[in-house]
Amino acid sequence: MSRQIPFADLKSQYNTYKAELDKAVLDVMGSSMYIMGPEVEKLEKNLAAYVGARHALSVSSGTDALLLALMSYGIKAGDEVITTPFTFIATAEVIALVGAKPVFADIDETTYNLDVEKVKPLINERTKAIIPVSLYGLPADMDKFAELTKGTNIKLIEDACQSFGATDKGKHSCNYNSMGCTSFFPSKPLGCYGDGGAVFTNDDSEAEMLANLRNHGQIARYKHKYIGINGRLDAMQAAVLNVKLAHFKEEIATRIKIGNDYTAKIKAAYKGDASDIITPYIPDGKVSVYAQYSVRVKNREEVAKKLNEQGIPTAIHYPIPLHMQECYAGCGFKEGDLPVSEKVSKEIMSLPMSAFLKADDQDYIVEALCKAVQETK
Ligand SMILES: *Cc1c(COP(=O)(O)O)cnc(C)c1O
Repeated sequence: MSRQIPFADLKSQYNTYKAELDKAVLDVMGSSMYIMGPEVEKLEKNLAAYVGARHALSVSSGTDALLLALMSYGIKAGDEVITTPFTFIATAEVIALVGAKPVFADIDETTYNLDVEKVKPLINERTKAIIPVSLYGLPADMDKFAELTKGTNIKLIEDACQSFGATDKGKHSCNYNSMGCTSFFPSKPLGCYGDGGAVFTNDDSEAEMLANLRNHGQIARYKHKYIGINGRLDAMQAAVLNVKLAHFKEEIATRIKIGNDYTAKIKAAYKGDASDIITPYIPDGKVSVYAQYSVRVKNREEVAKKLNEQGIPTAIHYPIPLHMQECYAGCGFKEGDLPVSEKVSKEIMSLPMSAFLKADDQDYIVEALCKAVQETK
């Protein structure tokens, strides 16, 4: 085995912007301003401008972004929040953390995002919010959810932790007439060098509430009106993000092209039945940022083993739908309840993906994938 392809290639990204990143971090070190301060203010301005939202509030992680969104809406014990089971655990975790009940609705089999038709019958008087997830960087059907919740008191929160930079009819993820929550975990489309996240809103009073809650519910120095959390972003992470955001437009365009190239190359190279390798479906008008490039294959474990042997790492996002996780056993779901999520979680497999994936490495991956699928049929 000669090649070893990195899964997310954060090293190449660092080397590309190294001089700027090193300087930015050292400048913060010398500034004595480690929490909030000018780097954080600059970042929030730039983030809001990027997605076109009125307010961006930087926070300590994507998880805290979601938690603060629910806290700001006063969601509590006795309430229900509808979301997808086919996501990272944090989406449902925060619902349980505020004392509410996660209610899982199944996904669409083509986009893997929450299916509005499956959500409708689950709405009742206890439903206080819906959290669609823009999975793998493909915007969820936020228009349809906005229509569904219009004229009701049900809050809409986009879990955009994987979709910063994605668009739907030209409109940016995180800004779909709902609160938008994103993550800057290192391997996300826009990542820092630790934990980080942001919440976006166009509503001034929501922004004020979020700002208070992320800083211990403080409304003036040592005056605490609400019970909040320590949910602030470090200045050093903000400095890293300010450097990366300046290159983001270019980098994300490359990332999108590489994702689209994967699909074109797989379709061109695979000689068997098209249903043997299901590539991502991107509906008209939407642009995915391919936080993950994930395909569906029948004999996933065997295919992954063959790829791994050839220096191609793979990952599974996600092997167990959340309604089948032990921690949600009390939510009243069982295997068989959400068949689409269960089926997809058995077949899905993510391939190496980054804006720094070289074309010949991609060709090598596509060739190995097609061969592995053919051999394991
Ligand atoms: C990464 C992720 C989160 C959590 O973000 P952190 O910054 O790791 O806390 C939440 N939801 C989804 C869909 C994610 O991918």
